[in-house]
Amino acid sequence: MEPVKLGILGCGIAAKDLHWPALKQIKDKFDIVTVCNHTIDKAKEFAQMVGNVPFVTDYKEVLANKEVEAVSILLPIHLNHQVTKEALEAGKHVIVEKPIAANLNEAEDMLTFESKYKSVMMVAENFRYEPLYIRAKELIDQGKIGKPYSAFWDCFSFLETTDKYAKTQWRIKHQYPGGFITDGGVHNIAVFRDLFGEIHSGKAITKSINPELGEIDSMSFLFNTSSNVSCVFNYYFRSNGYQERKLKILGTEGSMIIEDRDIIIKKKDSPDIKETVQSGGGYKEEFENFYDAIRNGKKVKCTFLEGYKDLKALIDAFEA
Ligand code: NAP
Repeated sequence: MEPVKLGILGCGIAAKDLHWPALKQIKDKFDIVTVCNHTIDKAKEFAQMVGNVPFVTDYKEVLANKEVEAVSILLPIHLNHQVTKEALEAGKHVIVEKPIAANLNEAEDMLTFESKYKSVMMVAENFRYEPLYIRAKELIDQGKIGKPYSAFWDCFSFLETTDKYAKTQWRIKHQYPGGFITDGGVHNIAVFRDLFGEIHSGKAITKSINPELGEIDSMSFLFNTSSNVSCVFNYYFRSNGYQERKLKILGTEGSMIIEDRDIIIKKKDSPDIKETVQSGGGYKEEFENFYDAIRNGKKVKCTFLEGYKDLKALIDAFEA
C-alpha cells in the first residue's frame, strides 16, 4: 500500500525531537512531502533534516497543496482549533497534537467535526499509545493486583526557565488555562482515564511558585473515577531538590508501581515481580494508528472525543 503523503505544520521541538524519530522508523507508511514553519530558518532546517523536502512559511499553502493527503499539526496550542478546521475543510486527514484545543468551547466545536468532514481525525496523545501503560492495563485487567481502589501519580521536577520548553513564549504567555499543568497534565489524565474510567467529583488546588513559568506551575488534583478508584495526581514543576515521576496503584491483592520503563508488582509475603517495557514513547504507535485509519479504515484510538475528555477533566478541576 502507498505511504500517506504528509505535510508537517510546525517545525519546533515536537516535530524534531518526537515526531521525526518516530516517522523515520515507518517510512513505508508516511512520506513527508512538505513542511511549514512561519519563521523560515526553522522551516528550512527541518526540511533538510527530514530529507530535503520543500518547505513553506504559510500553512495555507500546505492545505492548498493537492499532493498532501494528511497534515500533522504541531503548532502552539491556541492554533489547534482553527488550523484543524481549515485542514479538514481542505479535505486533509488530521493528526493534531495534544491538548486538543485551547479551551472547552473550541474543543466542543471540534466534536462536531466528525459529522461534518469525511477525513480521519485524531489527537496525538502519545501516552494513550505508550506500550508501558497498555501493558499496565493488561496486568490490571488480568487481576494481578486484585481490584484497584486507589492511585497516586507524583510528578515532581524543577523546570528551569532556560529549559527548551520554557523558552517557547507561547507556553509562558499561554492563551489557555493552566499553562504547563494543562500542556503536560493531559498526558497523565489520558492514562488515568484509560486505566480507571471517567473522572468525576474532582477538585484541584493550584499554585504558582515561579510566575516566569506562566499562570500556574503546581497542582494537586484529587478525584474519583467511574470504576471507584480514588486518585491523587500531584504535578509540580518547581520541586526544589527533589525529583520523582512515579505512578502507584493500590489493589485489593497487591500494589503496582510504574516508574521509568518498569512495572513492579508488589504483594505481601511474595517477591516483587518486575517487567521492563521498552518503547519510544508511543509516537510510532500513534502514527501507525493514523495510517491504519487512513489506508485500512481502522478505528482511531485517540478520537477528538477522548482528547476533549482529557482536557475537560483538568479545566473542570481548575474551576471546581
Ligand atoms: P514549538 O517548539 O514552539 O513548535 C511550534 C512551532 O510552530 C514553532 O517552530 C513555531 O515557530 C511554529 N509556528 C508558530 N506559529 C505558526 C504559524 N502560524 N504557522 C506556522 N508555524 C508556526 O512547540 P512544541 O514543543 O513543538 O509544541 C508544539 C505542539 O506539540 C503543542 O501542541 C504541544 O502541546 C505538542 N507537544 C507534544 C508533546 C508530546 O509529548 N506529545 C511534547 C511537546 C509538545 P517559531 O518558534 O519560530 O515561532
